[in-house]
Amino acid sequence: MKIINSIIHMQALAIAPERNGRCITFVPTMGYLHEGHASLLREGRKRGDVLVLSIFVNPIQFGKNEDLDRYPRDLERDCQIADECGVDIVFIPTAAEMYPHGFQTGVSVREISLPLCGGSRPGHFDGVSTVVAKLFNIVRPDVALFGCKDFQQLAVIRRMTSDLNMPVEIVGMPIVREPDGLAMSSRNAYLTPAERTSALCLFGAITRVRELFAAGEYSIDVLTREARAIIEQEPAAVIDYLEFRDSSLLQEVEVADSSTLLALAVKIGSTRLIDNTVLGENL
Ligand code: AMP
Repeated sequence: MKIINSIIHMQALAIAPERNGRCITFVPTMGYLHEGHASLLREGRKRGDVLVLSIFVNPIQFGKNEDLDRYPRDLERDCQIADECGVDIVFIPTAAEMYPHGFQTGVSVREISLPLCGGSRPGHFDGVSTVVAKLFNIVRPDVALFGCKDFQQLAVIRRMTSDLNMPVEIVGMPIVREPDGLAMSSRNAYLTPAERTSALCLFGAITRVRELFAAGEYSIDVLTREARAIIEQEPAAVIDYLEFRDSSLLQEVEVADSSTLLALAVKIGSTRLIDNTVLGENL
């Protein structure tokens, strides 16, 4: 497994003739890897000849008062997991090289970036689409894998690659959860033991809504009320958003159906967690 820090070096390996017709699969991450990332890497390993993992805590997707400075990092452990998952190249660029003095270009995907996390984190998805566009230009992947855990992010990336005719296939992968249902996230490392227990309310709300939907409850008002009640029972939890939207364009819906997305962001103490489910799909 090669570890590459330089953009030029990474790009040189990705372009012909070094590439030699081989299929490059790519998993972009911010590191502090867990089983969710590993599931993307294992699928990426199956789908191509050269598997590239990037680790980059992208400063431009963090707001001023967010957790950029305390975002968890452990490169040594990440490289060990990467190796176990069959990664060929770990690309770890520096912020100074990604955003040199004078950098001023951004990619902005419009409507689909606005609701949900885009509402609570203004500019977040501009940061995401810009860095992913840059990474695609550096790594030149044929296939890139993203988790449905960040459902809106996946929708934004799909829109961007389609709108800008980027020659890359985007693969969405299911949410990997802890045995008790908490969606895996690097940010779970912030939770105290008590908060870790409180954090189960996100999955509790999802489970309740799925049960009600399966039993024939399609009223968004009723489903919203039930989901909110479960989270509000938890003193440490503060809802950022809890919304039902259609899973393709992320527009508001009036009645739930099997393609309806429940998306939620909840603060547990100082940690903001997100989770989601599409009502008619398996968990
Ligand atoms: P991050 O390092 O948090 O930016 O995530 C990198 C990639 O891993 C993104 O495509 C995420 O959606 C995906 N990912 C993060 N957590 C999970 C999870 N629990 N299950 C599946 N994919 C995940």
